[in-house]
Amino acid sequence: MKLSDIGEFGLIDRFSKDFLKNLPKDITGIGDDAAVIPWNQKQSLLVTTDMLIEESHFIKSTISPEELGHKSLAVNLSDIAAMGGTPTFAFLSLGLTPDLTVEWVDRFFKGFQSLAEKYSVRLLGGDTTKSKESIIINVTVLGNIQNKHIKFRSNASLGDLVCVTGKLGDSGAGLKFLLEQKPLSQTAKRLIRHHHQPEPHISEGQWLGRKSGVHAMMDISDGIGSDAKHLIKSSECGIDIYLDRLPLSEDLKSVCATHKWNAYKLASSGGEDYCLLLTVDPKAFAKLSADFLATFHRPLFMIGEVTGNIGILNYSLHEKPYTFENSGWDHFKKH
Ligand code: ADP
Ligand code: MG
Repeated sequence: MKLSDIGEFGLIDRFSKDFLKNLPKDITGIGDDAAVIPWNQKQSLLVTTDMLIEESHFIKSTISPEELGHKSLAVNLSDIAAMGGTPTFAFLSLGLTPDLTVEWVDRFFKGFQSLAEKYSVRLLGGDTTKSKESIIINVTVLGNIQNKHIKFRSNASLGDLVCVTGKLGDSGAGLKFLLEQKPLSQTAKRLIRHHHQPEPHISEGQWLGRKSGVHAMMDISDGIGSDAKHLIKSSECGIDIYLDRLPLSEDLKSVCATHKWNAYKLASSGGEDYCLLLTVDPKAFAKLSADFLATFHRPLFMIGEVTGNIGILNYSLHEKPYTFENSGWDHFKKH
């Protein structure tokens, strides 16, 4: 059996069972956006780690070193945001190819530091080694959170409204331009910037963490098509997504019209949006969404509903069922 037969998540399921066995009840291990380790009576430590590898996650000739430094920290901060937490410290391990210039590495650290400073995250350590062919970047971020504010993937309830904190598909469209090597208009360049410089929704995550009407939360790294399935699995529920309610930017709509791309497909499976996916008690939604708008000057987008069809993710478009060939990113699956 090959890894491509079981996929990234089949593989994680396969080995994680052994490590989840006998885990103390108050510790959250493999399976959520970050591990949760009790710190004291009131607070917990959050730990998350993510790796970026040249050619798999980025094409060196298309991303600036500053953007890469930013992105390698941003994707980790997003996982802390997904729990409702505050990021505090980072560790950075680098496998660098000998052909890189010192200037390139300096610029990488400039991008990393600038985002770290924005959220008062301090780099405390890491490791540096030579890598023969590909640049390898691994970042670990620690964070803290009050126990009562932690939002797990596993807490969705039947009838909850499914919401997202930002527009979907811009990053996926940016990646499509890079992969298809199409000529780049200003619009395409803006979309690529979303792909290269995602802004983690830290303040939104902390704010939503404090709201009891928010039941389950995670970040969108692989696209809602894949990520909603993780929420479904953790919460033992189903989800219906209304494609006509997906928030799409004008830039995305315009390039999809020009190139005849399916905007719904990019929005649901393009991935790397790094906004938050959450489920909300329907009774709390009206006040929560009004307060969210007043606080962040952007809407909280309602895109679907939690159902009792356990294990099933359904899509509809204008109230009619809609099917995609495949959705969501999986590292080992063929795309
Ligand atoms: P995210 O996209 O939120 O970073 P992933 O999809 O990468 O999460 O991983 C899903 C879960 O599996 C996470 O809890 C992560 O910590 C865990 N995980 C992934 N790879 C490994 C590994 N090699 N060893 C242990 N845990 C892992
Ligand atoms: Mg995540």
